[in-house]
Amino acid sequence: KGDPRLEAISAAIRVVPDFPKKGIMFQDITTLLLDHKAFKHTIDIFVDRYRDMQISVVAGVEARGFLFGPSIALAIGAKFIPLRKPGKLPGKVISESYELEYGHDRLEMHVGTVEPRERVIIIDDLVATGGTLSAAISLLESQGAEVVECACVIGLPEVKGQHKLKGKPLYVLVEPS
Ligand code: AMP
Repeated sequence: KGDPRLEAISAAIRVVPDFPKKGIMFQDITTLLLDHKAFKHTIDIFVDRYRDMQISVVAGVEARGFLFGPSIALAIGAKFIPLRKPGKLPGKVISESYELEYGHDRLEMHVGTVEPRERVIIIDDLVATGGTLSAAISLLESQGAEVVECACVIGLPEVKGQHKLKGKPLYVLVEPS
C-alpha cells in the first residue's frame, strides 16, 4: 500500500447509501470510469500484476467485470471469457448456482472456451460474501482450467470472502473508506 494510485482509485469510487435498498452502501464504479487517470491506474495495476504470470484467460463476471476484464486481457495477451447471467449465452453452456442474501442466482459460461490447465484470472468490480466468485471458480474448474487468482477493484472488509473462494487467492485494490 502507500501507492498514490490507490488513493486516486478510492477517491473516484462513489458510495451511495441505501441503494438498491435500505442498509446497502453501494460502491459505484461508474464514477471511476469517468476519471480517466484513476481508471487507467486501475487497469495498469492489474496488468502489472498479471503480465508475467502466464495467464492465458481473463474471465469477467457480468456485468461490472465486463468493464475491467477486456482491457486487462488485451494488455496481457489473454483471451476474455464472459461469465453471464442465465439465458444470455447462445451456445452450449454450463451453469452454476450461488446463494444471494435472498434466494439464489446462476452464472453461465460457454463450453469449449478454455483448454485443460489454462491459467485463468477472474475479475469482478467488488467482492462481498464471495458467493459470486466461488460460482465463477467452479465454472472454470469444471472445464479443467487452473484459477490462479480472483481480482476485484473493491473488497468489503466485513465479509470474509476468502473463506468462500475455494482456497483461491483474492487480490483487491481498495477497501471502502
Ligand atoms: P458477493 O457474491 O456477495 O461477493 O457479491 C458480489 C457481487 O455483488 C458483485 O458482482 C458486486 O458487483 C455486487 N455487490 C455486492 N455488494 C455490493 C455493494 N455494496 N456495492 C456494489 N456492488 C455490490
